[in-house]
Amino acid sequence: MKNKPKAFNHLEKWQGTLANCIRCGYCFEHCPLFKYTGWESDAPRAKIITAFGLLSGEMDPSESAAHKLFSCFYCKRCEAACSSGVKLTEVFTDAKKDLIEMGFNVRDHFHHPDELRPLPHLY
Ligand code: SF4
Ligand code: SF4
Repeated sequence: MKNKPKAFNHLEKWQGTLANCIRCGYCFEHCPLFKYTGWESDAPRAKIITAFGLLSGEMDPSESAAHKLFSCFYCKRCEAACSSGVKLTEVFTDAKKDLIEMGFNVRDHFHHPDELRPLPHLY
């Protein structure tokens, strides 16, 4: 395992939580973003795995990782469905804080509202 990047100061407090995710997948079937894109990499479980990879040093910070972590409606449906009580959106927020501090721009990654028209119940 690589050394953990020192830059993940916000995400660090979720180390135990990220380890508690049992990768069961109960969260992702409730995610409207996943339902819209159809990409499992957009689903909450993948975001949690990405956060774990970044914190552990198994994954390097990248545009792709930032895009996945920044793309979220914060509807919290994943949290309601989680079998292990993982506070997913709080993890995402701290991952985003760290990535923003590294220079990744949230506005370059969040889905444009025009892309969300098939999801009128969210707006
Ligand atoms: S909070 Fe984000 S990841 Fe969770 S269900 Fe909503 S859009 Fe998906
Ligand atoms: S429901 Fe909870 S424990 Fe299961 S994969 Fe999603 S975040 Fe992990």
